Amino acid sequence: MPAKHTHKTALQYIGLGLFALSLLVFTGMLALENYRLTEQDLLATMAPNPEAEGAGTPEASSTVSAGSSGGASDAAPESAPTDPRARLIYEVQAPAFREAATELRLTDQTFGSSFSFQDKVTEVFQAARERVDESVDELIANEELPEGVSEWDVRLSDPAYYTEKFAALTAAAEIGPVVDNPWLFFLLTIGLGVLGGILYILPKFGPHPGIKHDHIYHSQVTKGLNLGWRGFFLAATILGILLFGIRYMAGDWFWPAVTTAIGLLILGLVLWVEGSWHKTRVRAADPAGLSAYIGILAGTYLIGFYVLLYWTPAHVTPWITMVEPLKTALFGGTASQWFLYGLLYTLVILVMGVRMITKYRHNKYQLLRTGSVMFFQLAFAFLIPEILGALNKPQQDLKNIWPLDYDFFFGWQLDQFQSAGAVGIFMLVWGIVLIIVGVPLMVHLVGKRWYCSWVCGCGGLAETMGDPWRQLSDKSLRAWKFERWIVHGVLLAAILMTALTLYTYFTGAGSLLGFETWKVQKWYGFLIGAGFAGVVGTGFYPLMGNRVWCRFGCPLAAYLGLVQRFQSRFRITTNGGQCISCGNCSTYCEMGIDVRAYAQKGQDIVRASCVGCGVCAAVCPRGVLRLENSSVDAGYRTVPERVIHVSEEGVSLVD
Ligand code: SF4
Ligand code: SF4
Repeated sequence: MPAKHTHKTALQYIGLGLFALSLLVFTGMLALENYRLTEQDLLATMAPNPEAEGAGTPEASSTVSAGSSGGASDAAPESAPTDPRARLIYEVQAPAFREAATELRLTDQTFGSSFSFQDKVTEVFQAARERVDESVDELIANEELPEGVSEWDVRLSDPAYYTEKFAALTAAAEIGPVVDNPWLFFLLTIGLGVLGGILYILPKFGPHPGIKHDHIYHSQVTKGLNLGWRGFFLAATILGILLFGIRYMAGDWFWPAVTTAIGLLILGLVLWVEGSWHKTRVRAADPAGLSAYIGILAGTYLIGFYVLLYWTPAHVTPWITMVEPLKTALFGGTASQWFLYGLLYTLVILVMGVRMITKYRHNKYQLLRTGSVMFFQLAFAFLIPEILGALNKPQQDLKNIWPLDYDFFFGWQLDQFQSAGAVGIFMLVWGIVLIIVGVPLMVHLVGKRWYCSWVCGCGGLAETMGDPWRQLSDKSLRAWKFERWIVHGVLLAAILMTALTLYTYFTGAGSLLGFETWKVQKWYGFLIGAGFAGVVGTGFYPLMGNRVWCRFGCPLAAYLGLVQRFQSRFRITTNGGQCISCGNCSTYCEMGIDVRAYAQKGQDIVRASCVGCGVCAAVCPRGVLRLENSSVDAGYRTVPERVIHVSEEGVSLVD
């Protein structure tokens, strides 16, 4: 392996050390706390008295409708309980929880970890559930169920639907150093991490800007894996998500099975029907030693972070406790895992945005674009929703557009918009206008880059934190074929799921052709909203490049791409005569576009997937590539002969 020249300064080593320390504390603090629950907290969370102060709020409501809890962002506010229903629920459930907790000793002992505490909570929940079932059976047998109250209002569902309640119990039970010193842990983790990152990045203002060919392929963190290992990690993650999905759906395997069947169908279509079984060998990037797995470890850490955050928030309560004082001081109220996530996401984009600025400070397009994603993340995705929440308005991210914002048309969301007065109606109209007019018009004028590379939060993270891994995107024709099947498949799924949602909203029918709306919503939120966009989309930066989600999964990118492909003025023009075939452009294209192949032929690049990041132009040593808007040939560009793919396998037309 060629010698590695990192040229790090002392300041950078200090920065790295501080960052590593912050990560260590951040991870280790999860094991520092103990958990001890009082009966009062148990009942206030699981079976609150409807006549007590504060009862009837979404947080205090005692029942959870099966389709409205436990997802990454599919938690729906519940309607206020009304007598006699709420009264009966309380009278049946409260004694059941009290007796089960006493019998199984939940409330008189201290648990050393969130895992042992959760095990006990689940055990108590199951015991309470049996007691509730017995009471309800008795009420039915004695015909004492009040009119207008269904037995299902009172019975408890599968524990899988109570993820957020269990997380609330864990938070109420938490005791230990983090609860006692939240600001200290905030400074030791997030504070030190930001400081370390800045110290590492600042010296980069010294040397020349731009890519420096300084052994990026040999950097242990960014070199990636060969195809076999990459396939292994991807298959293991997908399998893990599907198996966990069965548990998430409370043992219902129907949608995991449908997903598996669709996945196998796409695999068969691409590999056999479209003849892509044989693939050009990928650039050798097999890790040479143990240290080469640093990047893979980073990806695994990210995957673990997302799994805990999305699906088992009960195990990250110390992280939420740590940011609670900041949330209260800035916006009031209590912190949730989504406040923690928003804060971390924003800080990462800001810090790594500074890195992007140092790297491409010679390029005005990159400076403006990076400044733009930093601004939109800070203002639109973080500050404005938090301020709206403090004002008791819907916490809408006004730049998030359906179908990326997949729950925009969910019933609880539409109700929330309508009950929030003029502000809510504005949000609803704004969202619809963006989908119908804003997106097509802007893409027609300047391409999908206006959103994917200037505004979007997913794109913002990819362009800042993900930049060191952009060269890992697969440039093969086979990857392109997978991309088109999968991303358009997700768009179709989003459209069907939303159509079913609106059908239910306007007719009141809970299902259509046997497909239950809440289950379809729940599975989409789990699989696409959390699994694909979060776990795979970000966790796979070090494995498959920084735009895995944008390229293969984002339904909004698919919609933008269709408009860009057929109706946009945007293209990248190439001055083929100047090209020296160095390949920088293809290497650094995060969307896996073989830019050099177009440049060598002097052919305009008009690809649905191009996010207009402009990095291909920024790294070209000959000024061959230009991002332009022109109406001259907007109709002609879609004819097949203009889309030619050249690879070592030969030249082929892609229609
Ligand atoms: S072709 Fe260029 S502008 Fe388009 S995504 Fe690739 S690197 Fe970015
Ligand atoms: S277009 Fe520029 S970066 Fe791409 S191969 Fe040609 S000279 Fe190199």
